[in-house]
Amino acid sequence: MGSCIFCEIAAGRSFVRMVYSDRDVLCFFPLEPEMLGHTLIVSRNHYCDMRDAPAEFGHAAFSAALRLSRHYEKALGTSAFNFMNASGAEAEQSVPHLHFHYLPRFGLENFSTWPKLPPFKTNLDILLQKLKLV
Ligand SMILES: [Zn+2]
Repeated sequence: MGSCIFCEIAAGRSFVRMVYSDRDVLCFFPLEPEMLGHTLIVSRNHYCDMRDAPAEFGHAAFSAALRLSRHYEKALGTSAFNFMNASGAEAEQSVPHLHFHYLPRFGLENFSTWPKLPPFKTNLDILLQKLKLV
């Protein structure tokens, strides 16, 4: 995994500004943050994306996000956050190593992190027949 930048960071071979780490996650600032406090929550192990990781990793990522939330509330005065993931190139995942973007929100931003998608129509009953799991 020598060519994976996040594995290089996990191995301590690349410098990052580490906010927090434990046996499961690394939390550090991206080189070019999108906003104040933008932090990556990265799996210590190499998983390509969420489909590649054990479900238990979700607990570790969720715990790290909550830890950042409590800390950034006190340290930066944040009031909320976005917790975002892309799994797969078609979902615009840029680094093929599982990571989440933690975006602290202050309530004063004049932007949205939600995509503006074109309107579409579908028959939800037919879709439900196709997708229902139980
Ligand atoms: Zn990796």
